[in-house]
Amino acid sequence: MRTDIDLDVKQKTFATGLLPDLIAVLQRSRPGDLVGVIADEEGVGPELQTWCRFTGNTLLEATIENGRPRWVFRCGPAPTEESRPLGSRLWLYTNFDCNLRCDYCCVRSSPTAPRRELGLERVQRIAREATQLGVKEIFVTGGEPFLLEDIGEILVACTAAAPTTVLTNGMLFSGRRAETLRALPRDRIVLQISLDSATPDTHDLHRGRGTWARTREGIQLARAEGFRVRLAATVSTDDEAEEFRQFLDEEKVAEEDRVIRRIALRGVAGEGVAVTRADLVPEITITAEGVYWHPVGAEDNDLLVTRDIFPLSESFAAVRTAFDREREHANKLARIFNCA
Ligand code: SF4
Repeated sequence: MRTDIDLDVKQKTFATGLLPDLIAVLQRSRPGDLVGVIADEEGVGPELQTWCRFTGNTLLEATIENGRPRWVFRCGPAPTEESRPLGSRLWLYTNFDCNLRCDYCCVRSSPTAPRRELGLERVQRIAREATQLGVKEIFVTGGEPFLLEDIGEILVACTAAAPTTVLTNGMLFSGRRAETLRALPRDRIVLQISLDSATPDTHDLHRGRGTWARTREGIQLARAEGFRVRLAATVSTDDEAEEFRQFLDEEKVAEEDRVIRRIALRGVAGEGVAVTRADLVPEITITAEGVYWHPVGAEDNDLLVTRDIFPLSESFAAVRTAFDREREHANKLARIFNCA
């Protein structure tokens, strides 16, 4: 099973220093992260199981790999409907074109990708119907949403239904688009801006030369305009995640305004965490092409639930029915893969 964090404890046991290592892992993980523990001693297993039971973590798997025992546990208990009720989060892909061509984009966006626009009219209808269906948060993403001329109206329609987060690369806040941004309601909008590293190297490697500096400018502008900004990093390794965490600490970014996730092996990504439908707790995601299981694969057939968006109550019901059907397996493996 793929994990978010791997810990090789070698000969350590609970009697000889394993516990501080586990505590350090918990401190740098988020609920739902999967942690792999590799050891030389098979006797670690029963103690790890007991530790998981007492600390509220969930032991998922015990295997032998390359002759060494390996266990995987999930940080925190198995996700339940109570922790994030299905349908409380609604994702809208407003478009698929983008000013960037990141080498790990999970939906293959680029300047030459067809727009495949959801459109203002459909967004307005979704927003109207969503209020009856328990939607508590809306996430607007793409592609780059700020490429759309009517993104201001789209966001205003969303905010009328629920607090709205818009995912953006933060590079287009000038001229007409800056005016659009200024007109948005600060109390109902969060800007989630992608920044992959503390310095330009890694960010620019994946996203293109000069993008880090322009994104930093966008972040400053958004903050100066009074918007709450959440910084979201997509990383390849634990070391990159840790480095970014330190940067966020130095910048005094609040915990709720941080997202650090691994590259998902979807879209154009050549490597990353393989995520299947069974691995994911559904977060209803609507694109011009239909309703999907999760935003991380919003154009992949294995995550398509239905082509019919309306009535929204029926497409929500279709996701619920599919989840109930697959739940037994999902409860064993499914985890929250945080895109926001
Ligand atoms: S990852 Fe985001 S910014 Fe990069 S190409 Fe995809 S949509 Fe655009």
